[in-house]
Amino acid sequence: MARVAVVSGGTRGIGAAISKALAKAGYRVAAVYAGNDEAAAKFKSETGIPVYKWDVSDYEACAAGLAKVTSDLGPVEILVNNAGITRDTMLHKMKPEQWYGVINTNLNSLFNMTRPVIEGMRERGFGRIVNISSINGQKGQMGQSNYAASKAGDIGFTKSLAQENAKKGITVNVIAPGYIATEMVKAVPKDVLEKTILPQIPVGRLGEVEEIARGVLFLVADEAGFITGATLTINGGQIMV
Ligand code: NDP
Repeated sequence: MARVAVVSGGTRGIGAAISKALAKAGYRVAAVYAGNDEAAAKFKSETGIPVYKWDVSDYEACAAGLAKVTSDLGPVEILVNNAGITRDTMLHKMKPEQWYGVINTNLNSLFNMTRPVIEGMRERGFGRIVNISSINGQKGQMGQSNYAASKAGDIGFTKSLAQENAKKGITVNVIAPGYIATEMVKAVPKDVLEKTILPQIPVGRLGEVEEIARGVLFLVADEAGFITGATLTINGGQIMV
């Protein structure tokens, strides 16, 4: 039976590409989203991938949602923690809700989504967890102290969880994307993109969502059992760590 994969934020942007790539490779995928019903319905009708609506910043919602996926599809063997938001501003102007909103969605969600499935993975002796961080969690970014803290936290979480579960057939890894051609990045004014952003990227272009999905496919493969606690940077050479 094909393995069951849950992708948070799996209906739009990078997550949609991850969901599609996993489904194409034969995994049984559940794509989780927060509230954009229109995008989720379009995604579902185009791909046939089942969608589930819950808030990854809410532990009880995650526990209930993951239990539903398990009863619909079977035990979760692959978890891709991709859902994320930005609420950018300089710290001296940041409101508490901007700080806590980002930390809850981008970092606390890793606990909320992983805790309900990790014991089952340990019992079954197999699991693949991929956490989508960001280049800005590695290097910091002005106006993103909340986001960078959450994304750096993803990396510390990953390394610890990887150590705790290494003997149980479970791998835990990070992908740290650079600038990817999602709607958010495409909305950046053309001259800012061409004069400021692209010159920082040695490859000379934005990344494509499929290039992140390819990294996920590589890390979740049964054959990738010796790769754990790693951070795979997919950033066109923008930073080399
Ligand atoms: P998008 O904004 O295009 O999509 C975000 C997805 O996450 C949506 O499906 C959204 O659901 C879901 N989501 C957001 N909040 C929640 C929540 N509380 N509960 C459940 N689902 C939620 O994001 P991107 O594709 O741009 O980014 C995906 C990941 O990649 C993020 O973690 C981001 O930080 C990271 N990243 C992105 C980069 C880029 O260049 N785009 C660069 C580096 C990292 P809904 O549709 O309902 O809103």
